[in-house]
Amino acid sequence: MSDTVITRFAPSPTGFLHIGGARTALFNWLYAHAKGGKMLLRIEDTDRQRSTPEAIEAIIDGLTWLGIDWTGDTIYQFARAGRHREAVEQMLAAGHAYPCYATAAELEEMRETARKEGRAPRYDGRWRDRDPAEAPAGAKPAIRLKAPTEGETVIDDLVQGRVVFQNKELDDLVLLRSDGTPTYMLSVVVDDHDMGVTNIIRGDDHLTNAARQTQIYRALGWEVPTMAHIPLIHGSDGAKLSKRHGALGVDAYRAMGYLPAALRNYLVRLGWSHGDQEIFSTEEMITHFDLDRVGRSPARFDFAKLENINGHY
Ligand code: GLU
Repeated sequence: MSDTVITRFAPSPTGFLHIGGARTALFNWLYAHAKGGKMLLRIEDTDRQRSTPEAIEAIIDGLTWLGIDWTGDTIYQFARAGRHREAVEQMLAAGHAYPCYATAAELEEMRETARKEGRAPRYDGRWRDRDPAEAPAGAKPAIRLKAPTEGETVIDDLVQGRVVFQNKELDDLVLLRSDGTPTYMLSVVVDDHDMGVTNIIRGDDHLTNAARQTQIYRALGWEVPTMAHIPLIHGSDGAKLSKRHGALGVDAYRAMGYLPAALRNYLVRLGWSHGDQEIFSTEEMITHFDLDRVGRSPARFDFAKLENINGHY
């Protein structure tokens, strides 16, 4: 992996650029610049039903308005499906993946059992060691990762600290669906690797994904990037930020007349601090930003503070 820090912002273009996404982008941008590295942009447009050109435009416009730029061309994930399949071929050849012919009814039965037992659904590994010759004629398999069943998957997260997952809790996840489309989990790993990403900074709702992605990296024999999972933003009532807390889109703040520098300054303080300082120039943000000053508890969104910061510009 290169010595230069390479981060990325990887939004799914299913709506406007929201405050949480903008903060993730800003943290990636600041971290890269603070370390003399670069930030890349990847549009995760694999959900063909929910991804729209308008959302892509809104994300790019929002970032540009906020003054968050990226190096090189924007990468579009859907266009890379062939490469994602190639990585699966590599795992199949190395025995780290296998075809699974479990039917929809069988999978539903596994989910139903889990529901009854009050636990998360798990694939039971029934095709893990089975001869594909036993498959029903003409059936199209999904390809699953042959995940380790013993030991631990450990993430030394720059924000969360050491996070340990028991491998027996993680089942054999699907890499390719039976129609040949790559799953999110696979695409993210292959893209981050190919883009040379050294540092992944994203919301902590992706922490469990990080364990699964780490297993995919290992199966491919690739170095795992350093991860940092930042706490989500909550509303002033302590609940996860949602529409009922008011405007969520960067475009809404723009329309209300907030200045990009003020919003950027407000966003950086959502989860990060540098003493009591409230107002930072961009240069100051870059000089002082580091992930060890990002807390583990959710940041609270507070309109009064934003108002106050806006007043300084
Ligand atoms: N596309 C994902 C999202 O918008 C982020 C994936 C990632 O950062 O790894 O939530």
